[in-house]
Amino acid sequence: MDPRSRPGPGRASYGELEASSLYCPKCRQAQPVRRKLLLVLPQGEKFAYYCAVCGSEVGSKLDQGKPWGLSSR
Ligand SMILES: [Zn+2]
Repeated sequence: MDPRSRPGPGRASYGELEASSLYCPKCRQAQPVRRKLLLVLPQGEKFAYYCAVCGSEVGSKLDQGKPWGLSSR
């Protein structure tokens, strides 16, 4: 499961921790981000991240909080 692979500086364990800053293509540098809950799905919660400086969306992720989708993986 790879939500969005961006060509960027090596980000090894992205997705585990709370992202506090992400690369913003508009600002052309990593910026602090604001997280916004978009959707609550059976398999997790969908969040979007917005640049705290210019407000453009810089990423999104599905946060799988509950381990009740332990299917083939
Ligand atoms: Zn920005």
